[in-house]
Amino acid sequence: MSKTWVGSIVVALCVFTATARAELVEINGIELSVPAGWGKATKGKATMLAPKAFKGRGIEVFAIPKMPEATVEGVQKLLGSEKITVKKVAPLERNGWKGVAVVGQVATPKGNVDMDLLVVPVKDGAVMIISFIMADQDPVLRQANATVLLSARLAGPRMSVTFTPPKSGTGGIPKDFADAMNVLVPKLDAMLFLPGPLPVNIMSCGKINAFYSPATHSITMCHELWDDFIKLFTSVGLDEAKATRVARGVYVFTFFHEFGHALVFELGLPITGKGEDAADELATLMLSGVGAKGHEAALEAAFWFESMVAKGYKNPFWDEHSFNDQRSVAITCLLYGADKARYEPLMKKKGIPPTRLAKCTRDYGQRYQAWNKLLAPYHRKVATAAASK
Ligand SMILES: [Zn+2]
Repeated sequence: MSKTWVGSIVVALCVFTATARAELVEINGIELSVPAGWGKATKGKATMLAPKAFKGRGIEVFAIPKMPEATVEGVQKLLGSEKITVKKVAPLERNGWKGVAVVGQVATPKGNVDMDLLVVPVKDGAVMIISFIMADQDPVLRQANATVLLSARLAGPRMSVTFTPPKSGTGGIPKDFADAMNVLVPKLDAMLFLPGPLPVNIMSCGKINAFYSPATHSITMCHELWDDFIKLFTSVGLDEAKATRVARGVYVFTFFHEFGHALVFELGLPITGKGEDAADELATLMLSGVGAKGHEAALEAAFWFESMVAKGYKNPFWDEHSFNDQRSVAITCLLYGADKARYEPLMKKKGIPPTRLAKCTRDYGQRYQAWNKLLAPYHRKVATAAASK
């Protein structure tokens, strides 16, 4: 296993190739989620968005020099057109920006037409989004009006990696592992659109842990957990070099586990059952799609849980995590579901009966489809499998 193979793991998300229901477009520094079947055209300084066969005026996006005052007069002055009547204006805070929401009417030869307007501040000024589709007879279009306007967010990367060396001065996550995370994370970021920043902080925490925090919208990977992996794996008989190699795979699994928690909270995914099991499941599914190294990392995570069983570590019955031996089998069960022939000997060795094996196969398909369906609306695009060593 190459030292920095983590960077190649982006292919893992290729398991999630369901057709996106929406497409993300970037215009003048903002991102809008546009329904499938819509087109984008440029007319003068405006970018026009509308369903491909649509004949009327859809949604128009312009760059403007600065934010207007959040009053009827302020917006009326900005629009500067006698044809447009501004009816209501309110400040609006959404998706990390503070802008202005406007309801108005535009005079056309066929009469007055309702319009919605959003002004979003961007780095060098502001962006105005005018939508005329709320006035359409088609309820699907009227619904799309709300969906597109609500999706407006500032463009730019959501995920970033910071590396702070361990406070103790020794041990901790190796710098080259962090460098590889710096390759992986931007690729994940380019594949799924998250509503706001999600930093990944590699640092000393004062405790053995890795966690996603909904309060700070961040993932923390603690040096102490890495050191604990090495201690655990050497205590069950691995030499230092092997323990370090296994720790890399296990920490990749752990990152995907935390990323799973983050996706659930950040995207509001409607999961049921235990959140901890769902996070293990997502990590295993992603890794099972990455080829031999992904499978190896998932197996190493199963080994991690087995090692804890071997050392007699047992979480209490009320814990939100399943028991370590259950977590280990849940991982190998999904791997078996992904590749029956490859994992049959392992599952036999573990003493897993055929009735359970049949359910592993069934569950793998179900879980794979479920995650696909949950994540499909948040796809930017299907990543190209850019493996890097
Ligand atoms: Zn967890």
